[in-house]
Amino acid sequence: MELTNIGTIKDVMSRNGFTFSKALGQNFLINPSVCPRIAEMGGCKSGTAAIEIGTGVGVLTKELAERCDKVIAVEIDERLKPVLAETLADHDNIEIVFGDILKTDLSALIKEKIPEYDEIVVCANLPYYITSPVIMKLLEERPPIRSITVMVQKEAADRLCAEMGTRECGAVTAAVNYYSKPQMLFRVNRGSFMPAPNVDSAVIRLDIPEQPRYNVSDEKLFFRIVRASFAQRRKQILNPLSSALGIPKQELAVMLVKCGIKQTARPEELKMEDLVALCEAIAGKK
Ligand code: SAM
Repeated sequence: MELTNIGTIKDVMSRNGFTFSKALGQNFLINPSVCPRIAEMGGCKSGTAAIEIGTGVGVLTKELAERCDKVIAVEIDERLKPVLAETLADHDNIEIVFGDILKTDLSALIKEKIPEYDEIVVCANLPYYITSPVIMKLLEERPPIRSITVMVQKEAADRLCAEMGTRECGAVTAAVNYYSKPQMLFRVNRGSFMPAPNVDSAVIRLDIPEQPRYNVSDEKLFFRIVRASFAQRRKQILNPLSSALGIPKQELAVMLVKCGIKQTARPEELKMEDLVALCEAIAGKK
């Protein structure tokens, strides 16, 4: 079944009484070149297992299943059950779990469904309304996955893959860089979806190292510093950091300088190494 063919999709949807839900971010891929690229660039190959978030009619699920040994897909919309039973009938290595990804314990899911795999990758065309929470969940909970290859709104992709120390970066850039190595893969225009969204998209890949990229002695403190530093992206960090951490301005100013950061620094000037050094300096004082 050609799942990027508009006629085929409309036919299978109408036979099963399925209509798009805007609230669930249901924009399905109809550009035939995109899903094979996500699967290939996402590291799907023999010996690997893939986790997909949001199957839609199964257009990406099928490409993952053709390359990986096993696919576990989490889909919130149970109305897709009869649709997927039809569209993925030829594949016996796909298991669909109906539920909300934000409420799913991924480590437990992996342990239950694919415990024998060392190489597990996440590939998805994410619903836009939960892009950041899903990515942060995948990173923070540290399930045993190697990489996350996802389609997101172009602006989100630019922010997630921005170089630290540039105007494009934000708190989420620092968080993503803490846990992974982000990379922009390719752009996808809005005409590649049905229905077409009002925005363009991009596919990014986050590689997750076995050992953390940065060593901080107090992760909670590190993320408090990140959030406070980027709270007002164009303003100097001294004031917001001082009030968020309860450290007098003068004392904090000395610490910044000792860490090689200007007293007048703005978030867009900070590198990961600066944030780590600052965290260690503040942790040492506590
Ligand atoms: N993979 C399909 C494709 O590329 O055509 C569908 C992608 S569509 C952008 C997003 C999918 O995520 C939809 O099938 C939607 O029902 C599902 N979804 C939305 N919210 C979800 C959630 N919280 N947990 C799991 N799936 C969700």
